[in-house]
Amino acid sequence: IQSKLPKVGTTIFSVMSQLAQEHGAVNLGQGFPDFPVPAALVAALDQAMRDGHHQYAPMTGVPALRQAIADKTLRVYGHRPDPDAEVTVTSGATEAIFNAVHAVVRAGEEVVVLDPCYDSYEPTIDLAGAHAVHVPLDPATFAPDWQRVREAITPRTRMLMVNSPHNPSGAMFSEGDMRELEAIVRDTGVFLLSDEVYEHIVFDGRRHESVLRYPALRERAFVVSSFGKTYHCTGWKIGYCIAPLALSAEFRKVHQYNVFSTFTPGQHAFATMLQAHPEHYEQLGAFYEAKRDRFREQLATTRLRPLPVPGGYFQLVDYSAVSDLDDAAFCRWLTVEKGVAAIPLSPFYEAPPPGQRLARLCFAKHEATLDAAIERLQRL
Ligand code: PMP
Ligand code: GLN
Repeated sequence: IQSKLPKVGTTIFSVMSQLAQEHGAVNLGQGFPDFPVPAALVAALDQAMRDGHHQYAPMTGVPALRQAIADKTLRVYGHRPDPDAEVTVTSGATEAIFNAVHAVVRAGEEVVVLDPCYDSYEPTIDLAGAHAVHVPLDPATFAPDWQRVREAITPRTRMLMVNSPHNPSGAMFSEGDMRELEAIVRDTGVFLLSDEVYEHIVFDGRRHESVLRYPALRERAFVVSSFGKTYHCTGWKIGYCIAPLALSAEFRKVHQYNVFSTFTPGQHAFATMLQAHPEHYEQLGAFYEAKRDRFREQLATTRLRPLPVPGGYFQLVDYSAVSDLDDAAFCRWLTVEKGVAAIPLSPFYEAPPPGQRLARLCFAKHEATLDAAIERLQRL
């Protein structure tokens, strides 16, 4: 058959996890924690099931969860979205991204993405019959070149996608970046999709610059997050989208016929967690910062050169002192021959910078997992 997604194969995350399994490698590739979820989350899920929450949730999400999300948003970002009209619970951030694009982007229109970017963006845009326009981030700092973003916007541009803290680099937008963003979209019909799944994983006293803090941005934005990242449960696939009423209305039309509604007991469990245990998301940055710092100290004993990690749970390493292989070949070799699985950066780009020698390691792991990986990396 003639594929609708001819460029798409199996995602690099699945490929590397499978390779890791086949070769008994320590898996620092695909981003997922290997430690337990909070005990209170399991207890809340258990309670939700005992309470009999087993049938379809309301299409837009369980009311208690939408309210808890609105309350948290007010508490953290100083703006309370209307939980009934502006908050929609989704089956992970991936579904939210898909819905947002399909809600507003028409065939033939353009969506600007900043490379490297998360791998679901472009296929989602392609399926809408639209065209992804790739603007590279700075290859050294992963900061946006706002002038290039400005130049990429045309009368055909319907959406600009941004992601801070950034996967794969961990780079974060500054307040200055947000002001640039405001200036760029002002007086345009461009919608924003702000992928903020790592919103609570920020380090060194930095502030996460949520689009929700900026009225001129949030009035045209879909802001997407994921409980998978915040509560160490990527397998639950529950996330949400906050968008103004008119955008949420269109978003919900897609959600309604995409999945209709999302796993009900999990929604109740997250409502409990947000309300009863705000300390979990408040302390998440410190929790991961300790892991980051320890891992970076250990990496200093290897020939890999770690890049700065302002946020998120990925560490980029420059391996040019170890190998001259391209990143895909290096990550395969590292997994198969050296027993540590990593993710190459090239799948996150339309056109990877020539000669870039970077691999992504996930440090959302037990200390013992990271220790085992370091022992192997020391032998490189
Ligand atoms: N966006 C980014 C930047 C991500 O890293 C991820 C998770 N890998 C997602 C979206 C998807 O999140 P979810 O698992 O909730 O669909
Ligand atoms: N977001 C995760 C990562 O970047 C992977 C998600 C997936 O496997 N689809 O590693």
